[in-house]
Amino acid sequence: MEIDINLVKERIEKLDTMGKTPSSGTSRLSYSEAWRQGQAFVTLLMKEAGMTVERDPMGNLIGTYPGTNSNLPYLMVGSHLDTVPEGGSLDGALGVIAAVECIRTWQVSGFRPVRAVKVIGTVEEEGNVFGLGCLGSRYLAGELTLEKLASLTDKQGKKLIEHLKDNGLESELLESGIIKSTDLFAFLELHVEQGYELDLAGEPCAIVTDIVGIDRHWITIHGHANHAGTTRMDRRRDALVAAAMVVQEIYNAAYKSQGSFVATVGSLKITPGATNVIPGKVEFTIETRAAQNDILHGVHEVIVKLLQKVEGKYGVTTIVTDRKFAPAVSLSGKIIDTLCNAANDVNMVVRKMPSWAGHDAKIMASITQCGMLFVTSVNGISHSPEEATRWDDVEKGINILNQAMKSLALKQNS
Ligand SMILES: [Zn+2]
Repeated sequence: MEIDINLVKERIEKLDTMGKTPSSGTSRLSYSEAWRQGQAFVTLLMKEAGMTVERDPMGNLIGTYPGTNSNLPYLMVGSHLDTVPEGGSLDGALGVIAAVECIRTWQVSGFRPVRAVKVIGTVEEEGNVFGLGCLGSRYLAGELTLEKLASLTDKQGKKLIEHLKDNGLESELLESGIIKSTDLFAFLELHVEQGYELDLAGEPCAIVTDIVGIDRHWITIHGHANHAGTTRMDRRRDALVAAAMVVQEIYNAAYKSQGSFVATVGSLKITPGATNVIPGKVEFTIETRAAQNDILHGVHEVIVKLLQKVEGKYGVTTIVTDRKFAPAVSLSGKIIDTLCNAANDVNMVVRKMPSWAGHDAKIMASITQCGMLFVTSVNGISHSPEEATRWDDVEKGINILNQAMKSLALKQNS
């Protein structure tokens, strides 16, 4: 029984209508009407493929295809069902529809795995509603306390708990949905690359080795606000000029690192922000990403030295007011081998590469062995209505996923 790529395409396109905006983007934000429609649609597909379907108390959608030995830990496969505002049709949705398609072929051909397989569509991976990415998987992995969940509110001040109630979810049962790591055998996720590498190389798929760490710094530079006309250039302590040097130098360092790390200053605020006043204060962020944690620690030292340098050069003071470090995570070597063998089985050789974006698989790696497969992002575009992948590349990716799922679901032990 073969993967029906036309059916996958049809289903992706149908799911994409749920949250379609007038500007042709897709806004399927967690707990919205569009998200509910998407969940209802995927529920039907899961049921048609022979799965029993439930929503956990957080709103993760889970379909279970039974194995012959219910005592064995289950395999979980999937991705997220929410999108960013004005997003595309594939980010997240593809990983869910692909997993359902694999199970559909199993059901049609009468294939029974030894261990159960659960297909999941997680909630709030993008983090746009409550400002916390991978909320659904963080919940599953037991990373969030009930107090933390109770404290989450959307931009209008509405509590997560109220959203759960409005969606018929039982927030009082939240503790019951957390996965026991002994119940879970492995987690697999197929996802669009969201980068240029595969498309540039003309390759359809890749096996993910690591998911990058992200190191965010919130920095304030204090200079001295003064008259922009009467203050001689050699008497100024201009916070923005100092910040500009930091921006340029961290950019140069990342550029010269030849791909080992990236750095972004994505937010910058000047005070007082007037045309005739020398900037007295600048607050900005530096985000760095790398697949190895030692590289991130090294870049942090570079940032600290850079701040000392501009203090000396421009007579300003600098302070790192906050730092959030989310370490890089290596995915399971065993699952990487399984995915390589699966690719082999379908006569493909695929490269291994890190993921430069965060994913549910990164979170799930704290409780189980995880693997990820990428399919091409045409022109490297993602989080945009222009998001696209060639359907024959999608088919190749799903074939590898299917083979890996079968192999893991037939295993009697680790
Ligand atoms: Zn995604």
